[in-house]
Amino acid sequence: MLWKMSNSLVLKIIASSINISKQAGVIVRDVMKTGDLAVVDKGINDLQTEADRRAQNCIITSLSKQFPKISIIGEETLDPNDKIEDHWMVTTYDESVFKHKCPEEWLNVTDEDIVVWVDPLDGTSEYTQGLLDHVTVLIGLSVKGRAIGGIIHQPFYNYENETDYSKLGRTIWGLVGLGAFGFTHKQPPVGKVIVTTTRSHSSATINAAIDAIKPDEVLRVGGAGHKVLLVIEGKAHAYVFPSRGCKKWDTCAPEGVLQSLGGRLTDVFGADLLYDKDVNHTNELGVLATHDALTAHPFFLSKFTDDVKASLLSQQQRV
Ligand code: AMP
Ligand code: MG
Ligand code: MG
Repeated sequence: MLWKMSNSLVLKIIASSINISKQAGVIVRDVMKTGDLAVVDKGINDLQTEADRRAQNCIITSLSKQFPKISIIGEETLDPNDKIEDHWMVTTYDESVFKHKCPEEWLNVTDEDIVVWVDPLDGTSEYTQGLLDHVTVLIGLSVKGRAIGGIIHQPFYNYENETDYSKLGRTIWGLVGLGAFGFTHKQPPVGKVIVTTTRSHSSATINAAIDAIKPDEVLRVGGAGHKVLLVIEGKAHAYVFPSRGCKKWDTCAPEGVLQSLGGRLTDVFGADLLYDKDVNHTNELGVLATHDALTAHPFFLSKFTDDVKASLLSQQQRV
């Protein structure tokens, strides 16, 4: 019962969110098992399934019960009459979190400082297509408008080797000042350049930006969470997405984890993304995430041409 002794709101939110993300992962797997995804079109190239809805209900219900005074913003607009199953309510904490000391800078954080950004299922297109390792559950923690930590739960991790659904999945979490846990941090190979980008939301501008980098390899995969996992596990140097479309709930948890390991996530102009509760949900000026804030990040930023930047600015003005 270490949680009872902890005086850190930040650690409590993380420890609670870890267990909630695992339950959301169970829901995401269960819906896949039924085979009835009940897909709804939210817009062009923007899907929602029964798993997105149920997982968000689980996460928001559980988090708001435990932390009634913090702000929580989820991707999905839900029907208030949706039935909430009893087992979706998670009130436990991952006790391993409390073995760590809360970094000094987060000790005095209050409820009002916090916005939690929830993507109940990142990589929905890939989920509907059976590319299950692209799917993640994202719970991101922001304090005073900056991403400081997060949980990336990968519900189908190891699905190609393990047929027992109940044994699948892994949970990665991180906090700036503490580091990240639940996986092995690796640096990408020296002497070559590997970038990862979208597979289902591509555009001429994205392709032009990638050509300008002249990478040795391009990994076109789904999900913002999954792409940042590739970066922190040393499979890619950068996640390059010079396009609008990616939202704050896609980037908050990945940014928190990446930053805790010395990486960086910004827009294409190198500006920090903001996560206050009144902020525009869309990352209008694109996303660049790299494994290393000091050298890789400026390197990739310098590869965005004026044409790429102008294209983002013109789209911003049109919307
Ligand atoms: P992707 O890399 O295409 O899997 O996108 C990462 C995240 O951003 C996913 O949650 C997508 O749904 C979202 N996203 C990216 N581009 C768009 C778009 N054009 N329309 C809607 N969502 C998008
Ligand atoms: Mg998403
Ligand atoms: Mg989603």
